Amino acid sequence: MHVMGTPQSYRVRSFKEFIGNAEMKAYFLAVLASFLLARQTGVNPLPKGERVMLMGESRTGKTEMVNLFLQAVSCLEFNLESQSLCKLPCRNCAYNFHIDGDAGLFAEFSALTCSNLVINHIPIDCTKLTSAAQLKDYLALVSDKTIASQGTTIVFMDECHRLARWNMDHMILKAIEQSQAFFILASAEAGQLEQMLINRCVVLSTETAEPDEFENWIISISNQYDIQCEAKAVIALGKKAEYKPGLALNCLTKAMRLGGVLTERIVQEWRKEI
Ligand SMILES: [Zn+2]
Repeated sequence: MHVMGTPQSYRVRSFKEFIGNAEMKAYFLAVLASFLLARQTGVNPLPKGERVMLMGESRTGKTEMVNLFLQAVSCLEFNLESQSLCKLPCRNCAYNFHIDGDAGLFAEFSALTCSNLVINHIPIDCTKLTSAAQLKDYLALVSDKTIASQGTTIVFMDECHRLARWNMDHMILKAIEQSQAFFILASAEAGQLEQMLINRCVVLSTETAEPDEFENWIISISNQYDIQCEAKAVIALGKKAEYKPGLALNCLTKAMRLGGVLTERIVQEWRKEI
């Protein structure tokens, strides 16, 4: 199958496409199953709130997993058996809920009605927060939306190690304890987080795939973009990319631009951009 664009713009459409991160995948699939059920009943699937802390270096798949989960929760025809979004993206699952757009902190606030359940998606990129007051406003919005919509609110706080410790302790902790929203926190720096905050969450760490699984994945992605692969180059790329999909896609994009063959030389000369 040929896919448009470059490997760099490759977007996962099914949980089955993920390699590594088995525990994280199992967690999100379980939460997703309760959301899909709740869409029929209209009852908040997580009445007591739920908090998960995803830990792991950048490019290890945290954001991709969260984005797929958010799309799946809202997709009009998510298939639990194939773990896939609809074949042709519906208006909901075409959207990148995790991204803050041009407007900065969180550009898009969307309340989507999926059958009987209203779902609010609120992304907060902690690298873009400029003051404690701003954070307070967003947390107030989380609380307001959760109450007003009588549905459920999903908050994705990315790079939360960038928050000042005082804010973690006094604001986030309180918000996650009092709110019925589902908080998904992500961080690349476990050492910079308040232990109290970690203790309140289900903690899941990213795990890289096994080398052979990763190499097969490189070949499968290459096929989709009509990139030929030298066997040695595939092995070399896995090692050099440290078995991180995001990094490997970067090199495959380079191979595509340089004529569509992944050679050992391309891998050697590729400069990792993290
Ligand atoms: Zn869809």
